[in-house]
Amino acid sequence: MNDLYRLLPDEADALVASLGEPAYRADQLLRALWHTFPASLDEVTTLPAALRARLAAEGWGVGAASEMRRSVSEDGNTTKLLLRMDDGTLIETVLMQYPEPGRHPRSTVCVSTQAGCAMGCVFCATGQMGFERNLKAEEVAAQAVHIARVLRARGEHITNIVFMGMGEPLANYGETIRAVRLLTDRRAFGLAQRAITVSTVGVIRGIDRLAAENLRIGLAISLHAPNDALRQQLVPTAGPHSVGDIMAAARRYFTATGRRVTFEYALIDGVNDTPPLAAELARLLRGSGIHVNLIPVNPTAGGFRRPARPRVLAFERILREAGVNVTVRVEKGSEIAAACGQLRTRESPARVDFEPLTPPGAASPPAPRRAALAPSRSPRQ
Ligand code: SAH
Ligand code: SF4
Repeated sequence: MNDLYRLLPDEADALVASLGEPAYRADQLLRALWHTFPASLDEVTTLPAALRARLAAEGWGVGAASEMRRSVSEDGNTTKLLLRMDDGTLIETVLMQYPEPGRHPRSTVCVSTQAGCAMGCVFCATGQMGFERNLKAEEVAAQAVHIARVLRARGEHITNIVFMGMGEPLANYGETIRAVRLLTDRRAFGLAQRAITVSTVGVIRGIDRLAAENLRIGLAISLHAPNDALRQQLVPTAGPHSVGDIMAAARRYFTATGRRVTFEYALIDGVNDTPPLAAELARLLRGSGIHVNLIPVNPTAGGFRRPARPRVLAFERILREAGVNVTVRVEKGSEIAAACGQLRTRESPARVDFEPLTPPGAASPPAPRRAALAPSRSPRQ
């Protein structure tokens, strides 16, 4: 099946023209796909039945992610979904909501771009499960469409999308960029470019390609260490890309796009959280305009622990006093293993906390419940 959700608007125009149909049929198709979120071609009722039948005969259809399990954090603000792709591949998608008094909540979706990840970062659950396969652009978009459907039932909508789920987006460059275009094109999903952030472990070639795309999306680079020796231990595939190379690529991205770059720094107790390392990071970043987001690490396999709060604040203070723009990320959903780096679907200890499958048509999401996290153990045991 060729998924109509893969088509960029000009490709939908071309398909409709190739069928000898009037141009407005493409608009009808696009509006149906990206505003009514049909789960099958039959549900695209704005198109005449004969045209639907022709599309189906030519192999076109509407792909949809199937929700296998859903878990909701105790405060109800974080929802982790286990989604099944058409070929049975399982991936995880997270919805993080930030209540805003008197308004709809800010609703950020964290999408996956690969099943698993080949980068092997030692503290990341996805990295530890290894690489399964790249996701297609329509499969990335399907995650947003699925959540948009869930939110619409509550009168809410997606406000931001971050490419920070499973996988390394820039190692799947073509599909990632197509997904960004599908999600931001005004005739498709139509989210503002500024509302999208792509996070990378530091694939330099990918950063430079992204800078040349003429998009105004945000870029986050996962740094985790101020020097190459330590970074190499945490990100074993950092290989030829030095911290200096990453700094230079971040500057080029800013110059080309005007968008500020954020460095993510997962703080690991006793590993990369010492005051001298904070001072070294401050020297590296002072005057660069780069924003640092400190993420106290979420415990996964491998025995890495998050530093005690005073240690996190001390690290932050050293950066701030050196004039570096820094924030500490408030972790969301860690008790349901829906926080950064905790996403994994194979032989996953986190699987035990999933809620049972939501029956089709069920009106309300499952009640929040505290997760029973299994003790961490090596993923390969
Ligand atoms: N592959 C990309 C995007 C997905 S990971 C990247 O590495 O940037 C998204 C973010 O989660 C990255 O900043 C990553 O370093 C962080 N992360 C991974 N494992 C984590 C963990 N156990 N605790 C906190 N953050 C983690
Ligand atoms: Fe891959 Fe990002 Fe995890 Fe590293 S942190 S293993 S790049 S998903």
